[in-house]
Amino acid sequence: MQLTFLGTRAHIEAANRRHRRHSAALVHRDGARVMLDCGADWRERVHTLKPDAIVLTHGHPDHAFGLRDGAPCPVFATDATWSTINGFPIRERRPLPQRKPVALAGLTVEAFPVEHSTRCPAVGLRISADDTTFFYAPDVAYIPDRASALKGAAVYVGDGSSLETSHVRKQGARLVGHAPVRQQLTWCEKSGVPRAYFTHCGTEIVTGDERKLRPHLEKLAGERGVQARLAYDGLSVEIG
Ligand SMILES: [Zn+2]
Ligand SMILES: [Zn+2]
Repeated sequence: MQLTFLGTRAHIEAANRRHRRHSAALVHRDGARVMLDCGADWRERVHTLKPDAIVLTHGHPDHAFGLRDGAPCPVFATDATWSTINGFPIRERRPLPQRKPVALAGLTVEAFPVEHSTRCPAVGLRISADDTTFFYAPDVAYIPDRASALKGAAVYVGDGSSLETSHVRKQGARLVGHAPVRQQLTWCEKSGVPRAYFTHCGTEIVTGDERKLRPHLEKLAGERGVQARLAYDGLSVEIG
């Protein structure tokens, strides 16, 4: 199973050569291609990309608004996400149940609720094929059932909004926003996930100097026994 980061930019104004387009990824396996998220930047490109299926993590514009003109393939999303993008002219709408694995283009995909937004409830995607698993959570403040979500995962793909500054706040009993990379690396350490990539890069990364950020990330990761990298648009990695 191969994972290509199509886009790695958060919902921010800033962009650069490495982080030009909204966070999205393509999972390849045996010739099938499944796209994860389809933000506004992908509105035209998704029709030339023509994946076999699209799975959405949530309904925020940088994850779902590339489907405003419809989709060239079936789209899988939770009920909450479907209600956010109800007006989009998508013909092949498929449910994405939570905590129930679905078979999809040769992959097994299980959606885990993650705390991130109360208006656009988000899920993280636990994706498996050929006895290998990775977890994809581009926008995450907290993973309630982290033990099950990350169990045995070879790779964690997380939220690169910031390295150490927390953008998490409380809204009632929920947490909303974005967990810092440091926190997510601790989740990996606790669950024994050996490798992590960070997408959905925020202003700290996109307007910062990656030559300085890289050793900072490696230090945070190394302290936790994890290998970590910042993803960039076009990066392709073998999972497993
Ligand atoms: Zn986002
Ligand atoms: Zn979001």
